Amino acid sequence: MAFTKFLRDLSKDSLPEVGGKGANLAEMYNIGLPVPNAFIVTVNAYKYFIEKIQLKIAIFDILKNTDVNDSDQLQENTAKIREMLIQTKIPDKIQKEIIQSYRKLSKEFKKKEEWVVARSSATAEDLPGASFAGQQLTVLNIKGEKDVVDAVKRCWASLFTARATFYRESKGFDHLKVLIAVPVQKQLASEKAGVGFTIHPSTGKKDQIVIEGSWGQGEMIVSGAVTPDKYIIDKRTGTVIEKKINKKTEMRILDTKRGGLIPKKVPKSKQKQQCLTEDELYQLYELALKLEEHYRQPQDFEWAIEKDKVYLVQTRPVTVVYEEKEGEDVATEKRPILIGIPASPGVASGIVKIIKNPSELNKISKGDVLVTKMTNPDYVPGMKRAAAIITDEGGQTSHAAIVSRELGVPCIVGTKEATKKLKEGNHVTIDGDDGFVYLGKFKAKEVKKTKYKFVKTKTKIYMNLGEPDLAQKYKDIKCDGIGLFRAEFMAAEVGDHPKALIEEGGGEQFVKKFVHGIRKVAKTFYPRPVVYRALDFKTNEYANLRGGKKFEPHENNPMIGWRGASRYLTEPDVFKLELYAIKKVREEGYDNLWLMIPFVRTTWELKTIKKIIEEVGLHQDKKFKLWIMVEVPSSAILIEEFIKDIDGVSIGSNDLTQLVLGVDRDSAILGKRWFHELDPAVLWCIERVVKTCKKSGVTASICGQAPSFYPELTKKLVEWGINSISVNPDVVDKTRHIVADCEKGLKR
Ligand code: PEP
Ligand code: MG
Repeated sequence: MAFTKFLRDLSKDSLPEVGGKGANLAEMYNIGLPVPNAFIVTVNAYKYFIEKIQLKIAIFDILKNTDVNDSDQLQENTAKIREMLIQTKIPDKIQKEIIQSYRKLSKEFKKKEEWVVARSSATAEDLPGASFAGQQLTVLNIKGEKDVVDAVKRCWASLFTARATFYRESKGFDHLKVLIAVPVQKQLASEKAGVGFTIHPSTGKKDQIVIEGSWGQGEMIVSGAVTPDKYIIDKRTGTVIEKKINKKTEMRILDTKRGGLIPKKVPKSKQKQQCLTEDELYQLYELALKLEEHYRQPQDFEWAIEKDKVYLVQTRPVTVVYEEKEGEDVATEKRPILIGIPASPGVASGIVKIIKNPSELNKISKGDVLVTKMTNPDYVPGMKRAAAIITDEGGQTSHAAIVSRELGVPCIVGTKEATKKLKEGNHVTIDGDDGFVYLGKFKAKEVKKTKYKFVKTKTKIYMNLGEPDLAQKYKDIKCDGIGLFRAEFMAAEVGDHPKALIEEGGGEQFVKKFVHGIRKVAKTFYPRPVVYRALDFKTNEYANLRGGKKFEPHENNPMIGWRGASRYLTEPDVFKLELYAIKKVREEGYDNLWLMIPFVRTTWELKTIKKIIEEVGLHQDKKFKLWIMVEVPSSAILIEEFIKDIDGVSIGSNDLTQLVLGVDRDSAILGKRWFHELDPAVLWCIERVVKTCKKSGVTASICGQAPSFYPELTKKLVEWGINSISVNPDVVDKTRHIVADCEKGLKR
């Protein structure tokens, strides 16, 4: 008969031995969920304790003479029982086993004595239809053999609080048949913690996940002492559809001297700050899905984050639908009329102008809100005048999202129904941080911009740019160069399809306009490198240029069609126009201009393209570097082959994610849950590329959106040895800081 057992030796079927909470912990632990390890003092120990020393009879006698409806009597008699249990020594046999297991657990964490938490786990607890939640004791943050043994006894005694006794009686449970086990679990020193529900707990909506979180240990939330931030997540897509950021003034942290918790004021700067990062929310969302999938019924769980790692500390079935508590100091005072994917931050108000095609762009006056199905490069002149942009379609890497970020215009994409729901002339306010659209004019919430001091980094921090006119705006940004200069914006500005121009003898005009745009960027950032990325329009986008329909076939899947490198082989005359422009700008003295080839699928494509580049008189050397984008999985798989011919690679994580996971990056249906750049398969490719390049001395860079959104990826990239990271203008300084911190840790 074991008095203690470790989680690995138990499962959900162990309820009679370790109670509801214990069995749940074991089940979560053994299906690979991130649960801190524990041993459980089984019900056998409790049974032995109360039977061996005849406590059972004494308890029975007291309860027999107690009227549970007489609350004074109930209080008095249950206190007597608890005191009796506390005063009784635990038999040596049990004590010895508890101490041995405690030593073993501490050793797993490389400690002689680890901080632990003792929980109560009754055999009639967390059962479908009866939630005994919170009725028995939890002893937080204890250390040392004596304290652990004492805590176990206090948990046992808590089976006889007045409340628990009354509840058992009212539910018809026999007091002496309800047994108790005590999980003794590693105590987390949580920076943030909270609860989660795999359905909406107040409306019962099954397609929503609700996460509540605050700073410090989770007890403040569980006890209702703090109004946490609340996030509602769409279960299907993983998109956060509602956020309430509350003022969180109090927190509890571990007292590492005396044990237990100590109350603390949350620093002012963090009180109104959103406590969970986008990635943490996503991890909690994934864990919620796993829990519900595994238990096949809605779960109510507790989580904690320690040193950036998300842990689950408890789960139980949702047994009741709770009343929603109204939070104080709520950031979103009104219900949004439309929700989409936040694509470019900031708040702006204006009059809605619905644009069906680019010929209607003259409707947009300065300060209007441009509403359309999806933008393309022809929309850029109108986008520049807009106060905000809202689209029906698209994800975070769609055209509208990318351009808006560059323009610094708030934008929401993937709303599905903006063009239907919003009416021309409506006054709306859009919140590009949250993805909400409100009817009416709102006061912009105060956004405090963190000012970062310049710090030197070994890893270069480049900036992404598409619009040459914006070079001036960003000239003072402390970036080490332009890591992705997208050519599509210039082509949209030219307006004519290049093939049409060539046919009409206007190729030179194209080159001239490109020289003008490229020069602006190369000159502004000279002598810092500018990596010009050759045209990567898809056929549907080319078709939108004037005269384009004649030259562009209809493709069912343009995203994986005739684009990138394949076009330069089949239409070298158009590619050469770009090369002539590069050559001209370089000859003017801007030898900081390099070339990058997008969407390379095979090594033979690359070899042929290199010949075309040579033909034009551009010779790859120390001053003229040739890069390719790694964005088709084939180039990550055969990276060793590809890098034989080039000076550097830049990872296009937008396309790479799309192609590794087989998810259309612009799909408004498959949201973040599917298009997730931190998916292990995508990370596997990125790590492989960076490490292989490092080994071969070839420059490795990244220019997709991922590091702009996920600082945690930035840290990984630096650890793997990336040479440069190219991000959106608004996060250049922040990225530099993240990189500097990480490099410090690596002592590179
Ligand atoms: C990418 O695919 O990550 C990338 C930077 O290129 P684009 O978004 O222009 O396809
Ligand atoms: Mg790409």
